[in-house]
Amino acid sequence: MKFISTRGQTEPLGFSDAVATGLAPDGGLFLPETMPQFSAADLARFEPLGYAELCFEFLRRFATEIPAETLRALVAKSYTTFADPGIAPLKPLGKNRYVLELFHGPTLAFKDFALQLLGNLYGHQCEVRRETINVLGATSGDTGAAAIHGLLGKPGTAIFVLYPDGRVSPLQERQMACTGAENVFALAVDGSFDDAQTALKEIFGDQIFRKHHRLSAVNSVNIARVLAQCVYYLWAWLRLPAGERRNVEFVVPTGNFGNVLAGWWLQQMGVPIAGFKVATNQNDILHRMFSTGEYRIGAVQPSAAPSMDIQVASNFERFIYASVGRDPARVREVMATFKATGAYRFEQFDRGIFSSSRCTDAEIPAIIARVFREDGYLVDPHTACGFKELNPDRVSVVLATASPAKFPETIQAAVGIEPKHPSLEALKSRPIKKHLIKATPAAITAFIERHAV
Ligand SMILES: *Cc1c(COP(=O)(O)O)cnc(C)c1O
Repeated sequence: MKFISTRGQTEPLGFSDAVATGLAPDGGLFLPETMPQFSAADLARFEPLGYAELCFEFLRRFATEIPAETLRALVAKSYTTFADPGIAPLKPLGKNRYVLELFHGPTLAFKDFALQLLGNLYGHQCEVRRETINVLGATSGDTGAAAIHGLLGKPGTAIFVLYPDGRVSPLQERQMACTGAENVFALAVDGSFDDAQTALKEIFGDQIFRKHHRLSAVNSVNIARVLAQCVYYLWAWLRLPAGERRNVEFVVPTGNFGNVLAGWWLQQMGVPIAGFKVATNQNDILHRMFSTGEYRIGAVQPSAAPSMDIQVASNFERFIYASVGRDPARVREVMATFKATGAYRFEQFDRGIFSSSRCTDAEIPAIIARVFREDGYLVDPHTACGFKELNPDRVSVVLATASPAKFPETIQAAVGIEPKHPSLEALKSRPIKKHLIKATPAAITAFIERHAV
């Protein structure tokens, strides 16, 4: 299987090269050249499989150049770190309502599904190519923690994560800075997330430095991340009673369009899914897009669901590609207009099987309290955005993207209970090891020079 760029000006690459490259050199995002199709017979055959085996069966259609037994072992290892034997348990709430718990990985948020696997793919690449890899990323919270836990202690790798000092939650900081691992560097920058991001872009733009240290990025557009996320939709679909499957609507709290894109790709592969709801917080670029057909940038307002506080949905270009008839020239035109003017209006926009909703900060605690009262179930502030309103004509599966224990203040204020999780409690007694650093490319590259593998 080859992977092509949405902008059509990059040579198609195999799976491992597309994973190692991240963003395509023409500025576009990688997509599978063709979507494999799963037949009813395939789906029936998948039904009895455990999570890791299902993931292997799915990924082998894409990672065709990795020997099957190697891939199977890498996938199996990636899900041994999950605390729940069901990996992604599907829990029934009331009539026609389910929640898919995606927070049983090491950092208690759904990003572990992709980043545990990505860490093992990097580790494998080091072995095969007999090279070391230095991973560099910037985070406003969950991604950095999940990326660190994907690479923790892996020989031949080091990971450097930049985050704005004092502006991530104390628990998120501890997840990054209390691992005790020699190959993990939590870099607290003196500045905002945007400052860190800007410095990072400049460092990646320096081809000589980048090549010399075999730098790799962990951003949400990596093709391995999207594909790994397709699997839990398939898993959930297979766990539903057969009579409900064709009427399912997945409700996805999202900001970057990464998570919901994965579900939609699975539908494009022939799995009968009735709909997707894009559930945003008050940073609602995607809700405005799906309700009006206009993609227009807004100013970020910090919210109680911080992992969805984004201005530009970095994965949305993959949806644009499909909506302009898979024409890379049109994608380039849309992206150029959007970059120049901050907006693009799609004429005769067809939202297809998508619907959307927006949840303000004022609504989040009320929703947490309502779901707790009605269903006896505690949701985190991101998941709460999904519960804003459910379509009564569908079977709704709401994706629970993080554990409520990661956001104790919001939960305490909403329902008067402080959720605890043993892994987070354990972190509180461990020493923090972080490096304070200026948000300049010079300071950051000097640090990497000293610590790279
Ligand atoms: C990252 C994250 C999201 C948003 O994911 P997208 O990639 O924007 O779809 C939602 N909830 C939590 C808890 C997250 O960490």
